[in-house]
Amino acid sequence: MDIVCGVAVPVGPHIVRITAPNPGVMTGPGTNSYVIGDRELVVIDPGPDIESHVNALRTAVGDRLKWIVCTHTHLDHSPAAGALAEATGARIAGRAAPQDGRQDAGFAPARLLDDGDTVTVADVTLRAVHTPGHASNHLCYLLEQQKILFTGDHVMQGSTVVISPPDGDMQAYFASLERLLTLDLAAFAPGHGRIIEKPHDEARRLIAHRLKREQKVADALARRSPATIDELVPLAYDDVSERLYPVARRSLHGHLIKLAREGRAVEQGERWKTA
Ligand SMILES: [Zn+2]
Repeated sequence: MDIVCGVAVPVGPHIVRITAPNPGVMTGPGTNSYVIGDRELVVIDPGPDIESHVNALRTAVGDRLKWIVCTHTHLDHSPAAGALAEATGARIAGRAAPQDGRQDAGFAPARLLDDGDTVTVADVTLRAVHTPGHASNHLCYLLEQQKILFTGDHVMQGSTVVISPPDGDMQAYFASLERLLTLDLAAFAPGHGRIIEKPHDEARRLIAHRLKREQKVADALARRSPATIDELVPLAYDDVSERLYPVARRSLHGHLIKLAREGRAVEQGERWKTA
């Protein structure tokens, strides 16, 4: 069944998903907001500041909302936090927005979260897991009682995570995928798409997928070196539609920076060459 925006869908015990009306290439069916708890509630990722979406969240939470937590501050995840906090009296938690021009600059958390910090309401404990890569301030949240990890944009279902340097960091992204294998998990609840069962299998699949892409980037560089990013995109992403090239070039840049740090590529002005 397709994900329908604006509808409160139970996806687990005391977990409701409401998808925002912002579908697209980067957002799949739209951004998932999750409402967690029973007597007291937490919202993870209130999403874009779209009136109908904020109203759907307000209806779902009534007067029980205590915390609004954000996985990161991209414009499809955190901007509704302010409006929802104002309407409900809930407090906002997350990490401050980096300054790369792609962030919700108005994000104003009352509480700054570090790796391992917990947000607790009645019967619910969410533990922050710092997972830089897609964004430097990215947090996943582990619902400890159910071992469900809310992955924001660290792991998505149905679309590929984009790594946009400089705030996006491919090397950190690999490390943060590996980190998932160290957590005791029952499922991923992604920021886009549906619940993912067998989370460790999925994390391994994603690592393998990225390694394969990295190899394609290295091979493309070996064939064309020295080359601009735009010259490398059609070679390294020959399996994706051309309309995705503008997005692919950002992740390709991320791969090149990682290869350079590993001594496998060198940046020379606008061009990249093999080391
Ligand atoms: Zn994002």
